[in-house]
Amino acid sequence: MQTVSDYFGSMVFDDRVMRATLSADVYRSLKRTIDRGSQLDISVANAVANAMKDWAVAHGATHYTHWFQPLTGITAEKHDGFITPAPDGRVIMEFSGKELIKGEPDASSFPSGGLRATFEARGYTAWDPTSYAFIKGKTLCIPTAFCSYGGEALDKKTPLLRSMEALNRQAMRILKLFGNTNVKCVRTSVGPEQEYFLIEKEMYDKRKDLIYTGRTLFGAKAPKGQELDDHYFGVIKPRVEEYMADLNEELWKLGILAKTEHNEVAPAQHELAPIYTTTNIATDHNQLTMEIMQKVASRHGLVCLLHEKPFAGVNGSGKHNNWSMATDKGVNLLTPGETPYENAQFLLFLCAVLKAVDDYQDLLRIAVATAGNDHRLGANEAPPAVLSVFLGDELTAVLEAIENDKPYSGRKKTQLKLGVDVLPLFQKDTTDRNRTSPFAFTGNKFEFRMLGSSNSIACANIMLNAAVAESLKQYADRLEGTEDFNTALHLMIKKTIKDHKRIIFNGNGYDEAWIKEAERRGLSNYRTTPDCMPHLLDKKNVDMLTSQGVYSETELKSRCDIMLDNYCKAVLIEAETMVDMAEKQLLPAVEKYVSKICETAISKKNFMPDISCDYEHGLVKTLSYLTDRGQALTGELKEAVVHVRDFCDIISEAEYIRDSVLPKMSALRAVVDEAETKTAAEYWPVPAYGELLFGVR
Ligand code: ADP
Ligand code: MG
Repeated sequence: MQTVSDYFGSMVFDDRVMRATLSADVYRSLKRTIDRGSQLDISVANAVANAMKDWAVAHGATHYTHWFQPLTGITAEKHDGFITPAPDGRVIMEFSGKELIKGEPDASSFPSGGLRATFEARGYTAWDPTSYAFIKGKTLCIPTAFCSYGGEALDKKTPLLRSMEALNRQAMRILKLFGNTNVKCVRTSVGPEQEYFLIEKEMYDKRKDLIYTGRTLFGAKAPKGQELDDHYFGVIKPRVEEYMADLNEELWKLGILAKTEHNEVAPAQHELAPIYTTTNIATDHNQLTMEIMQKVASRHGLVCLLHEKPFAGVNGSGKHNNWSMATDKGVNLLTPGETPYENAQFLLFLCAVLKAVDDYQDLLRIAVATAGNDHRLGANEAPPAVLSVFLGDELTAVLEAIENDKPYSGRKKTQLKLGVDVLPLFQKDTTDRNRTSPFAFTGNKFEFRMLGSSNSIACANIMLNAAVAESLKQYADRLEGTEDFNTALHLMIKKTIKDHKRIIFNGNGYDEAWIKEAERRGLSNYRTTPDCMPHLLDKKNVDMLTSQGVYSETELKSRCDIMLDNYCKAVLIEAETMVDMAEKQLLPAVEKYVSKICETAISKKNFMPDISCDYEHGLVKTLSYLTDRGQALTGELKEAVVHVRDFCDIISEAEYIRDSVLPKMSALRAVVDEAETKTAAEYWPVPAYGELLFGVR
């Protein structure tokens, strides 16, 4: 039998394969490009392309594609065959260095915001040698960046790579100040925990809302939801277990380090977490994971829902972005450590993150803003839309002591003067672990928990890396050239704590009282996408992102447009689907049931003239009222949707959708859900919540 280590990474053109298939010279050149970003010579590219092709063909591939991440949020690919005609009528399999390095898909069908108008419609994809090529089905996939001809990024990978580079640049300056001269680079790493729902495909196929929008737009609550907490970490059902086993195998073949899996809080909800890796690769892997989750589900007669809020009344799905910074020597810069020398360095990096999250709360919120995620953030679900950082009691006490020039009286009695004294050793899992914070320090990494389950993790990490790079830049600017490094360092850490302690919150993030307290502290609370998105173009944000070289101003403008446009489109599709379902399926179903009750009442009367028929009377009255309301609200919703055309700027359109379309959708849903609870199950034309949530056995 094949063991996991036999087939792990078998579909990846990884270092192992490169070593085995490339000449020593070509391998060395390619490694230089991967590690240091140096230009690849065309002869080397040709040799790599040829080796890749031979390897891929030997593994059953017939096509190749530049695999990229346009602003649709999913991945894109256009397959080209390796075949080239030979003069004698046969074909040979060819793949050149030029084809490996650069592709020219038509950019005009991908979202580009304002960029398309200003620049050429054509775009190009450029090979990202830092993320290994892999085989999916019969296609060799080459991870690429996607840009316009003018060089503007049209994807999520390009700014992500730029943000990693920005953080590297600034972190290196700081490390140099601490005397770490042997470090060659600093990389950020991410381990994204992915939540999802699994439901029966047979039921999914009967619900237009799930098919068109990924979430249920109607549905009365089932008698049982998640109140008993009996699903979280519960025994995994055999069907689900088989799915997970199959999924793991597919992911492992692609070199994805799928590691943990468990049931989540809501019924039918599950989670998968890989072992963390470099952010760029983690992002590619997360995109692939989402795709394969869906593909494998259909093989098992299931559907994997990645929407943030597929069901009302039970938890939605998020993604936890576990993030850290480490040197090429493997030193995690967020490890508190024991020696004073490292502690001061740790405290500075910790402060850089605190400052970054406080200064750019809005950017982090923007990075996770979608119509789907608005149902979690800022709704009655956690984490809230307010950003705060959980540090735990111990670390918070350390920072307080520094701020007030007091000795730290924690577990160990230690005197506090930075650069000399010893911090207590931090346990990875401290007792005061907090599950409600949107941004929690968890021992040696930060866990950003606001991401939606379908979000690409690129956006969050772009903003996070850029913001931390900016903090580090400001520190380095001040510390470089100072004569008394230790004093300057101490003062700067103290100042950061004073200026940014408002972002620290160790309490319950779900609590309404916290939202009020956050407001008092001046923290921003953008509940919806139209609330936060326009702030992407606030001067402080544009200044920071452009000066860190992460985005150009034009790119930011186009992204703001695209994100708002995506929001509007997503909600409008939902509204149209609701109208369709209400008019063609749900209201007619109630009518049919009402007519059946009327018939029953008439025949009862015929049979026994003095019978009361109270039950039928009551039901017909209630249901007729509900269908009348349903009809009226459907009409209002339709009108609201038509009115959207009157707006010519995207911000007003998005605001109108938030304020006028969404509330009408909720009103219609409430009436129809009420009717569902009063209609006999056999008349209800779509599977109910109970069947959807408890259907997989
Ligand atoms: P949880 O209790 O939240 O599930 P885990 O320790 O299991 O926490 O880690 C969750 C995720 O965090 C995993 O993907 C793991 O690989 C990742 N992770 C662990 N250490 C780091 C680190 N230093 N940097 C980034 N991610 C990390
Ligand atoms: Mg977690």
